[in-house]
Amino acid sequence: MQSKDSSKSNFNIPKIKFTQLFINGEFVDSVSGKMFETIDPRNEEVIASVAEGDKDDVDLAVKAAREAFDNGPWPRLSPKERRRIMLKFADLILEHVEEIAALDAMDAGKLFSVVKTGDIPNVADVLCYYAGAADKIHGTTLKMSRELQGYTLLEPIGVVGLIIPWNFPSPLLMHKVAPALAAGCTVVVKPAEQTPLSALYYAYLAKQAGIPDGVVNVVTGFGPTAGAALSSHMDVDKIGFTGSTEVGRLIMHAAATSNLKPVSLELGGKSPFIVFDDVDVDKVAPLAFVGAVYNKGEICVAGSRLFIQEGIYDKFVKKLVEMAKTWVVGDPFDPNTRQGPQIDKIQFEKVLSYIEHGKKEGATLLTGGNSLDRKGYFIEPTIFVDVTDEMTIAKEEIFGPVLSVMKFKTVEEVIKRANCTKYGLAAGVMTNDLNIANTVSRSIRAGVIWINCYFAFDPDCPFGGYKCSGFERDLGMEGLHKYLQVKSVVTPIYNSPW
Ligand code: ADP
Repeated sequence: MQSKDSSKSNFNIPKIKFTQLFINGEFVDSVSGKMFETIDPRNEEVIASVAEGDKDDVDLAVKAAREAFDNGPWPRLSPKERRRIMLKFADLILEHVEEIAALDAMDAGKLFSVVKTGDIPNVADVLCYYAGAADKIHGTTLKMSRELQGYTLLEPIGVVGLIIPWNFPSPLLMHKVAPALAAGCTVVVKPAEQTPLSALYYAYLAKQAGIPDGVVNVVTGFGPTAGAALSSHMDVDKIGFTGSTEVGRLIMHAAATSNLKPVSLELGGKSPFIVFDDVDVDKVAPLAFVGAVYNKGEICVAGSRLFIQEGIYDKFVKKLVEMAKTWVVGDPFDPNTRQGPQIDKIQFEKVLSYIEHGKKEGATLLTGGNSLDRKGYFIEPTIFVDVTDEMTIAKEEIFGPVLSVMKFKTVEEVIKRANCTKYGLAAGVMTNDLNIANTVSRSIRAGVIWINCYFAFDPDCPFGGYKCSGFERDLGMEGLHKYLQVKSVVTPIYNSPW
């Protein structure tokens, strides 16, 4: 691992333009007037003070969204018109890509170049995908009997509360906002308290694009206050959430004990990355390494349990260590950097404590394991071998650059061990044997299986988990249908011979 000092960054940090709540088409202070600080994880300095929304603000935002849904133009526009406006929104996002990318890079410690060329174009892409879907929402016709016929109408579900995490502030916001808009819903977005800035920027651009007031509202603030107020709100018709499994449970409970609104949950993971003997080690080891440490390991689909078949084990591990040694940790605005700081002090300490668990429980620390001796929340890419399935680092989601490596012998064994987790989000299967690839893909209980690739996303490819990784899907047409509900309309037919 190499480290770089952030003073070498020559990027001009943009002026922060939007720090207030966005309700009913206006930037406003919170009712309480309270603010909170968003911190730059590179240097622990304050980036900006942002309005701290709470229950009263959520009430105002939901009221605006309710009015925009019940009486406003958005759900009543022709789908073509919604499509036109959403495409404009996508264009505006691409016009401002540098500025938005800088906000996410600063707020979340993400690599600026990756956000600029990956996350933000993905946001625009997803908007275009759902803009194109807006006029392809249709139900079915039902020939029920000789006396009855019917059809189904797909209607927007209503006011949607969207609770977003901090690791991919832009994509995870738009994976929910775009389909909700295409469906004709109105939304109240609660971005993560660590990364509030880009959501406010999107609200501003939504207005510029012509999205009517009240359709997109953003309440920045904390989870147990603003987030809880949204998920327990009696006038919210649906909650879309991405975040931890623990908070997913709280949200489901809040929904169940308020108005029984449906929720969709995209939660944690502990994904197996399985490598069989027949692969090209020089190609697959870098993929496995990046699969675990991409976005500093702050990604729910991190391939954090690496299973390597015994025949290539030693060679593969050697290559992983070489990767780790040349991996540059440092300022995310420096184009040479491959890994920025962890999001905040809490996560930083949590990751370090998992590393301690790994050592104490008897895993062998091969490389990394330390934080960098400087300001900011930087942690070395860390590789443990001799990890057993029972160890904490093999079971719990670490959300940091920590890879647990395990050896296996047979297909049957690895399927069993890969499934030995409460999670079921993703899995990687690396082999040139088609039969093994298909067998493992069918046998792993996870929502996404990547064969000979990893992190391969597309707006058309549904994404979500099995088991404690959640339910329902973002992206694809499944991602649209969860913001729609089905109405069956039935009429009698008299004297029909058919
Ligand atoms: P992570 O573990 O990735 O930080 P969390 O699940 O804690 O993720 O947070 C994801 C989102 O959920 C954030 O926007 C956060 O503010 C919100 N959140 C946290 N606690 C609650 C809660 N009790 N009710 C609703 N939202 C919450």
